[in-house]
Amino acid sequence: MLSTMQDGPLSLANLLRYATSVHADATVTTWTGRAARRRTFGELGARAARLANALRGLGVGPSDRVATFMWNNSEHMEVYATVPAMGAVLHALNIRLFPEQLVFIANHAEDRVVFVDGSLVSTFEDVLPRLHTVRHVIVVNGDASALRAPRGVEVHDYETLLEAQPGVYDFLVLDERSAAAMCYTSGTTGDPKGVVYSHRSLYLHAMHVTTPAAMGLAASDTCLAIVPMFHVNAWSLPFASMLSGASLLMPDRFLQPEPLLAMMEAERPTTAAAVPTIWTGLAARLATHPQDISHLREVVVGGAAMPPTLMKTFEEQHGVKVVHGWGMTETSSVGTVAHPPAGAAGEDRWRYRVSQGRFAPLVEFRLKDDNGTPVPHDGASLGELQVRGPWVTGSYYSPSDEPVEAGAFDDGWLRTGDVGRISPDGFLTLVDRAKDVIKSGGEWISSIDMENDVMAHPAVAEAAIFGVPDERWDERPCVAVVLRNGAGEPADAATLREHLAENWAKWQLPERWTFVAEIPKTSVGKFDKKALRRQYADGRLAFIRLD
Ligand code: ADP
Repeated sequence: MLSTMQDGPLSLANLLRYATSVHADATVTTWTGRAARRRTFGELGARAARLANALRGLGVGPSDRVATFMWNNSEHMEVYATVPAMGAVLHALNIRLFPEQLVFIANHAEDRVVFVDGSLVSTFEDVLPRLHTVRHVIVVNGDASALRAPRGVEVHDYETLLEAQPGVYDFLVLDERSAAAMCYTSGTTGDPKGVVYSHRSLYLHAMHVTTPAAMGLAASDTCLAIVPMFHVNAWSLPFASMLSGASLLMPDRFLQPEPLLAMMEAERPTTAAAVPTIWTGLAARLATHPQDISHLREVVVGGAAMPPTLMKTFEEQHGVKVVHGWGMTETSSVGTVAHPPAGAAGEDRWRYRVSQGRFAPLVEFRLKDDNGTPVPHDGASLGELQVRGPWVTGSYYSPSDEPVEAGAFDDGWLRTGDVGRISPDGFLTLVDRAKDVIKSGGEWISSIDMENDVMAHPAVAEAAIFGVPDERWDERPCVAVVLRNGAGEPADAATLREHLAENWAKWQLPERWTFVAEIPKTSVGKFDKKALRRQYADGRLAFIRLD
């Protein structure tokens, strides 16, 4: 029997129409360093129409890739709202990549138009001659005449381009399965891989982000998007805010703790999203410059494991609930979010909160061991996580239109490369990335668990644990520590090892310790263990050895 229900595409063209009419009063606010500038969703609608006309005038048609090289700001949001709605494909480039990676990605994606932030013109100019498919560069908030472009590339000023256009555009309803946006993984192993999102996948995923099972976004919220729009589409916050009518607060390039806190004081966001290292920086600043941030009812942290002590600091000292989540570029971002189940209290509640979280309804999950045998979801057995679902990619993008699997799929399931356990009630706890696993004498030492324990010491600001070769045990953990400024008596390696001995067996305790000013970070602010391993191998990391 068929249903009597109507069918309708989950199209970002419809979403644009909805957000800019029903939620016309919601705002996108951009921080300028000292003050804020604000545009309503209604204004965004008029500017989106002008932008779509302008892009059409430049020859942008269905499936053409339109890239951005921008900070989080209201103009970036305009490009986000417009490009998929007109049938083209949005591609936010990571502004922190090395030039070689940027060139590889833009050429691989065959980007045709690139929006470049005025403050990033000189960085972009260096790679532009090597971008073979780019025909138009649109400079936003800057001086277009300052950009030197090779022959065949036209340079435009964003506002001039918009002014010349009519403010009406007929955004057609699109096939929900057509491409809407794409992102590349950071390429920690091998070349970066492209993931292409559909209208349907982005719509469904953004709807999940708005639910209380994820961020619970509502029209009464002001959502501070610290996570860059080039990091898995800012975890879908632009689309989720259009669905819910939540206002957006954008930090632009002011991402250091001091300006972020000044912006929060002025704009009082109710929710926020960022990777753990941002929260580490904010906590350190707040320790010396107290400020009430309890206007944040809840913040979402993911992309890397959130140290439990940091979660407790925000909750107990600042009245801000930190919600932990796990996801990947391949899963449109959100796969799990850690909201404890009903009845969980005290330490039990914290056990749930510090886990990576509970799976979303449309994300199916399973664990497999090294031999490919399924592992039970008993909360104890470890295996590699595999997922599938309508917002999980089924392959990687290839310009030849033959999608590549790159060994990352198992019978239609995405192999995440993450190792962990799953409880019977669907909570995921990760212990490592497969490529970061440390095996000492064949026995596993979880780097995430050990990092969390080192970071629980009051003298430690950040700690990363990585595997180093060892003649006797094949591999041993090495600890890189950043000590907290002004934390009283600075801890030494022996003290920290003693601290670890409370929870770890003697054979697990690391003998190699290195004290550094900063842990190297990836382009999206995660601990860069590949860089640490390389520094160690090159003899550039001075370490203390305890025996
Ligand atoms: P990259 O691989 O470049 O870091 P992604 O942002 O797609 O790009 O990273 C996804 C990976 O980040 C996951 O596979 C996992 O290893 C890690 N990750 C994401 N969220 C968490 C989390 N809450 N705890 C631990 N690891 C996480």
